[in-house]
Amino acid sequence: MYRRLIILSVIILAALAGLVWAGYHSLQMQADGMAGARLGEFAAVAEQIRQDVKQNLDEFMQKEQNRPYTDYQHFYVPDNVAPDQQQMPVLRSPLGGKIENDLAYGNFQIEPDGNIITPNDDLEQMQQVASAEDDLQTKVLLNRKNIEDNLWPALSGRMPGSFTVDFYSDTRTQRGISKQIDRPADASGKAKSAKAGESQMQMGRNYPIESLQSQDRPAQVIEQRRSVLEQNIISNSAVAQQAPQTQSGSSRYTRQTQSSTTNQAETVEVRIEPFVPLVVPDPDPVRSIFGGQVFLLRQVQIENRQFLQGFRLNEKKLIEEVRESAEKFMRKGMTFELAQPEDDYFDVDVAYAAVLDFGFGDLTLNLKEIDPYWIGREIRRLRYWYFSIIFVVLMAVTLGLASLWRNACAQARLAQKKDDFISAVSHELRTPLTSIRMYAEMLEKNWIKSPSKAAEYYSNMRQESERLSRLIENVLDFSRIQRGKKKYAFNPGDMNRCVGDVVEMMRPYAAQKGFSIETELGPVDQSIFDGDAVTQIVVNLLDNAIKYARDAEDRTIIVRTTCDDGFTFIEVEDHGPGVPSLQRKKIFEQFYRSGAEATRETNGTGLGLALVKKFAEAHNGFVEITTARPTGAIFRVALACEGITQ
Ligand code: ADP
Repeated sequence: MYRRLIILSVIILAALAGLVWAGYHSLQMQADGMAGARLGEFAAVAEQIRQDVKQNLDEFMQKEQNRPYTDYQHFYVPDNVAPDQQQMPVLRSPLGGKIENDLAYGNFQIEPDGNIITPNDDLEQMQQVASAEDDLQTKVLLNRKNIEDNLWPALSGRMPGSFTVDFYSDTRTQRGISKQIDRPADASGKAKSAKAGESQMQMGRNYPIESLQSQDRPAQVIEQRRSVLEQNIISNSAVAQQAPQTQSGSSRYTRQTQSSTTNQAETVEVRIEPFVPLVVPDPDPVRSIFGGQVFLLRQVQIENRQFLQGFRLNEKKLIEEVRESAEKFMRKGMTFELAQPEDDYFDVDVAYAAVLDFGFGDLTLNLKEIDPYWIGREIRRLRYWYFSIIFVVLMAVTLGLASLWRNACAQARLAQKKDDFISAVSHELRTPLTSIRMYAEMLEKNWIKSPSKAAEYYSNMRQESERLSRLIENVLDFSRIQRGKKKYAFNPGDMNRCVGDVVEMMRPYAAQKGFSIETELGPVDQSIFDGDAVTQIVVNLLDNAIKYARDAEDRTIIVRTTCDDGFTFIEVEDHGPGVPSLQRKKIFEQFYRSGAEATRETNGTGLGLALVKKFAEAHNGFVEITTARPTGAIFRVALACEGITQ
């Protein structure tokens, strides 16, 4: 049985250990998964922002691409003028009166002779604001000066007639953008070693936005009436001639009014190339996130005349748009900040760095956790609950196993006691039967000649049979009590008389074993008791005294009766070894016998005192042991005088 229990315990404990390990392992995986999922969320947000910014830029560039070339001039003649109309209407450019147009700043046109005209060239207006304090006019003047001072040198050698360069690759190499960000080789945005909570994910990823790189766009080709076209050119050249000149480079802005009249065809083809970006070094590089001013330029070809049109990219507006997109797509617990690649963006709080690559320059969008430690806290909370549950399960299993072991041990002890009991009972039965058979045989065969000897043998046979019936009585009583079938006959009677009768009955047996029994029967009230039970009590106590004090020097057994506090006390005192205090409780347990079965010198079944206790309790009483002087045991049985329960 123990082997099976050991195997079961080992299996349960091994399963528990496996459970703990698997649980802990899956918690770790959960932590990694949460960090990875969060990183994925950041990557998704970055992608949404990229697409939004790209869409806005695409729409803007599409609009600018489709913008009529005449919008870059101050005046224009509408296409739908009747061919025979003498006086052609001249309209103001829709870009006039403002310096900003969405992401475009300061639209301008450079004519074949290098003359700059803008939609804001208006002599009358400009003269009215002589002090140039007006905001718009100041900006117009500054813009013109900027083109002259910064764009013009970058274009030198590339006059409009030869304006075909790959500005994008030029500017990129020039600024060395590609070296500035140390991006992970695998920029897939997956969590790798990021530890939940303590995490600085900081995975960067490049998000290219190709909108401003227009190489793929087709050129726009339109047909225009020659008369309208010539009017357009004449009216704008006239305005440009009167426009105030900036301090330097005035020689380049000389008026040129010659129109191409060699080809007298009714319509003229106007070819408008797509925009290309050009980053021009800025004298104040701090002002620009791209390390220079970004110009978007396109070439317009009208017969053999080539114009250059363009505008400066409105960086502030661009950043504003990125910011608006970012705000639109931020998810719960996320925040962001814009930085440049040069900035120290490996900030501890940065969870994900998205590099918006505009081709000619980058903008870093640092996505952050508002609370960077929430995943860590979440995992700690999970761990806390996991370990609490494991602790409770461990406690429950330990308690379960302990009680299983306890029960198993108790069962094993009981089984052992029963085995001992059976062998004790067989032995107890065999001994008196052997004696009786031996005496009976000798008497039967007339081997005993002396009448006194024969009388002694008869007496021995009676005593042995009495011992036999005492044993059988004990076993039967015990069995009845176990099955709840024991019936008591409580009757009023004289306790002293009952006890005295038993003493007299046992006296010959005691005498045969060398014991004398003294009685000290005190005044006892008339009480109600079961005569057979009291007889059994006294017989068992006397039997034990004779058995266990057999080696004592003083072989006197004293039987006392007293009465006190509603109880009648029966005491049996011997002068044997006594009962050690540690055994005083155990000896009243069923089948309990002190010492090992093999080394035991006395006969017995372990039922005597258990029955004494049961009988005392049936009389609403109890049993106790005290030590006799100088040695020995005093068994004291208390029986309630009244109030007996059946
Ligand atoms: P049994 O006598 O058959 O062994 P009992 O129930 O009568 O069973 O006694 C239980 C145990 O109590 C005995 O084995 C013995 O150790 C102890 N015992 C009983 N009476 C005495 C006594 N008078 N002196 C010493 N020990 C005793």
